[in-house]
Amino acid sequence: MSKTTSETPRRLPCGGTPFTEVAKVLRVARELPHGPEAEDAVIHVINALADLFKRHKPPACQVGSHDGSCSSACLIEGSGFDSRRFLVDCGVLEEDTGKDS
Ligand SMILES: [Zn+2]
Repeated sequence: MSKTTSETPRRLPCGGTPFTEVAKVLRVARELPHGPEAEDAVIHVINALADLFKRHKPPACQVGSHDGSCSSACLIEGSGFDSRRFLVDCGVLEEDTGKDS
């Protein structure tokens, strides 16, 4: 309720966004000790998933978090996936600059 951030709403209906969870898995995979070819492969998968999720255009809750389920009143069509945020969460992009790491 009293959560004050400057972030735009991008969470899926109540319970968070699965994209964040996917990003955590991918970040761990990317940071596992292995050769550069394997890391390139993981980054390829990350970018492919980012494209896939972007095309899916999931709705987002504009409230951010609340009790109970979302309704059509609180959902914004097609804004539930932020590909830049996803790439940052995966560790492919830097948090603030948006430059490739
Ligand atoms: Zn909602």
